[in-house]
Amino acid sequence: MSWIGLGLVLAAIYLLWRLFHAAPIRRAGLALPVPKNTYPASRCVHLPSPESPFQLITLLVPEFPLQGAAIQMIKSLDYEVAREQRAEYEINLSLLACTCPDFVKRRSGFAGRDARRICKHLYHKIRPVSVRLFDPLLQVFLSEHQPSPYLYQATMGGDNIVLFGITPGDEWLNVFTRRRHKGEMPGSFTGEYKRYGFSIARNGWAYGDRPAGADELRQLIAYFVSD
Ligand SMILES: [Zn+2]
Repeated sequence: MSWIGLGLVLAAIYLLWRLFHAAPIRRAGLALPVPKNTYPASRCVHLPSPESPFQLITLLVPEFPLQGAAIQMIKSLDYEVAREQRAEYEINLSLLACTCPDFVKRRSGFAGRDARRICKHLYHKIRPVSVRLFDPLLQVFLSEHQPSPYLYQATMGGDNIVLFGITPGDEWLNVFTRRRHKGEMPGSFTGEYKRYGFSIARNGWAYGDRPAGADELRQLIAYFVSD
């Protein structure tokens, strides 16, 4: 067989491979979920007006006694790098800094002792201290790893503090609120704090998990929805 003939055979094999393997991959691309930024603006989260009952706040991580070295190398199973691959990061407990992609991309822009700086690697080291020293809302906020760009606080029923994590243009908002013990009315909930997700686009709670005082919370959530 001549070289030209061999070349033609190889080209034919390549074209057949493209036809049967590559083409279905391109078609599958059309079936991908619709990206969240294609929701109409009215079905995404917006910042509330200054006249709303919300206060823009920053949760701060208090100074805490450091055990061992402030700067540590840690090994982590990091799925952002590659599945099952162990990555090595340097964490700095006194500066609340880490070299992981989550910290570098999404958290390093928050300054000082802002709680949104705490990635899962910092949290793992801080947790034994936080359980003893930090207030219950801050403990839950840190454990949920939610670096929303805006945090708003409001009160429900007069006395219950509720925290909203807001990403403008996103479908979801995060609601941190207390559980209800039997017989408690809004304003007097004393259960532990928990994070709930609310979808503006679908007008409902994630997994159908409704927090205590859900009706009153909906009235607050309406401030984050534009007409
Ligand atoms: Zn990290």
